[in-house]
Amino acid sequence: MRIGIGYDAHRLVPGRPLILGGVRIEFERGLEGHSDADVLVHAVCDALLGAGAAGDIGLHFPDTDPAWAGIGSLVLLSKSADIVAERGFSIENIDATLLLESPKIAPYRRRMVENIARAAGLSPERVSVKATTNEGLGWIGRGEGIGAMAVALLELNSAPDPTKGA
Ligand code: MG
Repeated sequence: MRIGIGYDAHRLVPGRPLILGGVRIEFERGLEGHSDADVLVHAVCDALLGAGAAGDIGLHFPDTDPAWAGIGSLVLLSKSADIVAERGFSIENIDATLLLESPKIAPYRRRMVENIARAAGLSPERVSVKATTNEGLGWIGRGEGIGAMAVALLELNSAPDPTKGA
């Protein structure tokens, strides 16, 4: 078993759609970023890549590369899942938490879980999405941005262990 952690944060700005977990959410502001700025999916990608000791989202999908401009982050999640699969891992589960003062995500949570599960090639029972406010504290509490944390657990499918060489 290998565990990985992911964290991301994006600034909330006017004139951008708010996309979380691949779901377009009605809100007066959206997240700033090179891709669709889906902070939740970015944290999940980093958790998967971290568990596989396979670098991070910035390494595989650099924001200097025009190929990734405006891309749906679920595509990046599918590619991240492919990267860990190529290293011989299957995904046990993903758990993620959104850190945001508003809007409430409960109405969208099921669709977020389904989107993440589909992109990662998992059944939805293996994916958890939660949310918490920051009780008004700090940049999250002031609504300046949205943060996300995620963990992923991988299982090495079979010998040989890729870290032990050929
Ligand atoms: Mg990001």
